[in-house]
Amino acid sequence: MTDNSPGTDTVLAHDGLPPLRDVIATHELSAKKQFGQNFLFDLNLTGRIARAAAPLDDATVIEIGPGPGGLTRALLYHGAKNLTVIERDPRCQPVLAQINAHYPGCLHVIDGDALEVDVVKLGPAPRKIVANLPYNVGTQLLLNWLHDIDNFSSLTLMFQKEVAERVVARPKSKAYGRLSVLCQYLCDCQILFEVHRSAFTPPPKVTSAVVQLRPRADRPVGVDLQSLGKVTQAAFGQRRKMLRASLKSLGVDVSALLTQTGIVETARAEELSIDDFVALTRIYDQLKSA
Ligand code: SAM
Repeated sequence: MTDNSPGTDTVLAHDGLPPLRDVIATHELSAKKQFGQNFLFDLNLTGRIARAAAPLDDATVIEIGPGPGGLTRALLYHGAKNLTVIERDPRCQPVLAQINAHYPGCLHVIDGDALEVDVVKLGPAPRKIVANLPYNVGTQLLLNWLHDIDNFSSLTLMFQKEVAERVVARPKSKAYGRLSVLCQYLCDCQILFEVHRSAFTPPPKVTSAVVQLRPRADRPVGVDLQSLGKVTQAAFGQRRKMLRASLKSLGVDVSALLTQTGIVETARAEELSIDDFVALTRIYDQLKSA
């Protein structure tokens, strides 16, 4: 379901800070493409994202790219007491300082590149990441966090819809690929809602979607994530080929690998379930170290 409700701006009405459009005008924050900036002014939407990550009051909450602070304000309004935001565009710092003064002791601002910050070190568990991600580094950030997933209780992330669909895609679909397997092996993943492009300023070319990932309690143990990364890269790198051909780049006996896993040699990557990839990875690790 697409959330495109114009509605009243509940946070705006209550948090006592200036309306976002005024903030943008006062601080001359015209959106810059180089920073992947598409701002959300509809605080019903930012409120909805913040509520999806609730409860916030007992967590270390981390937001990437606060920009003019729409989502930041919603997170604080909805109870975040320990919120760290990481913003690369120095023009946003005065706005964030104003929000900081309004919520003393609750907001910590890092002026820098989120790709270079070890977010696990920002505070104790439970840790939650909530963000309207810059489209140009969103997928890379997610892949980085997946490596540390047990340190987070949830990731609530706005992506281009196409990326969100890859995260939740099931086998035998066009969107199913490496990102789907890595995310779904580690997490329960669901698209919460879609957001029409007109909700952003400037509007991006495509629809967006909010996706939520929570570490799986029932995850099969003993699978090396790096090996799963290699196996999925080989399999989906040549997704039209049969596995007996695409897995050759792994440098192990592919026939033995597939026989021991119980997968037919003529199968293609997109036909395999998450459990099949888990099994392939276990046998791959055994063959590699034999
Ligand atoms: N949160 C705001 C909102 O919802 O209106 C802005 C979202 S905008 C899609 C992405 C934000 O991420 C921008 O403010 C941009 O400057 C910031 N950004 C881009 N690359 C970044 C990076 N590598 N590290 C930290 N922030 C980044």
